[in-house]
Amino acid sequence: MMKVLRLKPGREKSLLRRHPWVYSGAIASQGGNPGEGETVAIQDSGGNFLAWAAYSPHSQIRARVWSWTETEKIDEDFFRSRLAVALAARRYLFAKDEGGALRLVHAESDALPGLVVDRYADVLALQFLSSGVELWRETLIDLLVELSGIENVYERSDVDVRRLEGLPERAGPLRGSPPQRVQIQEAGLKFQVDLVRGHKTGFYLDQRRNRQRVRQLAQGKQTLDCFCYTGGFALNALEGGATAVLAVDSSQDALAQGRENMALNGLPSEGVEWLEGDIFKVLRTLRDQARRFDLIVLDPPKFAPTASQANRAARGYKDINLLAFKLLQPGGVLATFSCSGGVDTVLFQKIVAGAALDAGVQAQIVERLTQDRDHPVGLNFPEGEYLKGLIVRVSE
Ligand code: SAH
Repeated sequence: MMKVLRLKPGREKSLLRRHPWVYSGAIASQGGNPGEGETVAIQDSGGNFLAWAAYSPHSQIRARVWSWTETEKIDEDFFRSRLAVALAARRYLFAKDEGGALRLVHAESDALPGLVVDRYADVLALQFLSSGVELWRETLIDLLVELSGIENVYERSDVDVRRLEGLPERAGPLRGSPPQRVQIQEAGLKFQVDLVRGHKTGFYLDQRRNRQRVRQLAQGKQTLDCFCYTGGFALNALEGGATAVLAVDSSQDALAQGRENMALNGLPSEGVEWLEGDIFKVLRTLRDQARRFDLIVLDPPKFAPTASQANRAARGYKDINLLAFKLLQPGGVLATFSCSGGVDTVLFQKIVAGAALDAGVQAQIVERLTQDRDHPVGLNFPEGEYLKGLIVRVSE
């Protein structure tokens, strides 16, 4: 018996626009008793074919679409061609060497729901985030090795979202012998990436281009890098000629790696301070000490994964942005980011505007930033755009 999810009347609309998610509430009935991750046919209420999708019995997102073509078979060849398309897009977009670090597959936006593949030099770091890709994991791993020519593969599926799918967290080597740490280059700067203990798959690749923008603004600037992780913005500011950098993070491991990265690049440590602390407290301390900066970066972790947490997140963003505005010299520049899916570009700008107002500064947006190009946004999947950034300059 064919495995089928039949939708309620009218609930096919988002699928007709090729949005790849089928919510549990949209389903009228199911047939064929599909197992976790198995391919099901999605039908409208009249029984007409809409898509092939992967079944996620434990998630509110009950199915994720693989294909809109009824004649297409979801098998190894299907995944080979989808992966080849994703890899070809990177070859086109990144003609010159990116120092070995690149996101090769960005899940839904590369028409491979739930699959994240990052390349760090000669290692692939993978995340399987949905039941569909979990079922196909061995096939996908083999295909990735075949198509990329990279033989070392490490898994970092140790993330919360797996729980929503009813999947346990998983991490460890999958193929070859991936080392714990690899060295990458980003616009001429070297970074050590810890594949085992680092955040996400090891590094925040999405901010690469934005770090270079900050580098270009840093000449002669006293810089504060908040949520510095392993020094991404801090090192770029130094490379760009910052006169001093204060880099703050709550993770001691990240700071130790940041210091190491600084030494690795032969950057002078004079005028550079790595400070462990909670940004919400550190910014208040700096304010009370009447410290001032010419350039401040705010790159916090996700405060709101979904829209339901947007209110709480908004308070967090408002707080740190307000404090940052107070710490800026006249003419100073704030590079402020949000990677919360639940806070969209419009809301984020409102929050930053409210922060400037309450801080009593006049400021203007001089640039809008988003995730780098190896994290594309499927036009049928606006949720793929999660990183928002504003470069804001305070009046002299
Ligand atoms: N800017 C970095 C990425 C930042 S990711 C880069 O370009 O690589 C967010 C960082 O915030 C993480 O390193 C995490 O350890 C840190 N963090 C989370 N909550 C924090 C808090 N309350 N205070 C200080 N750092 C925090």
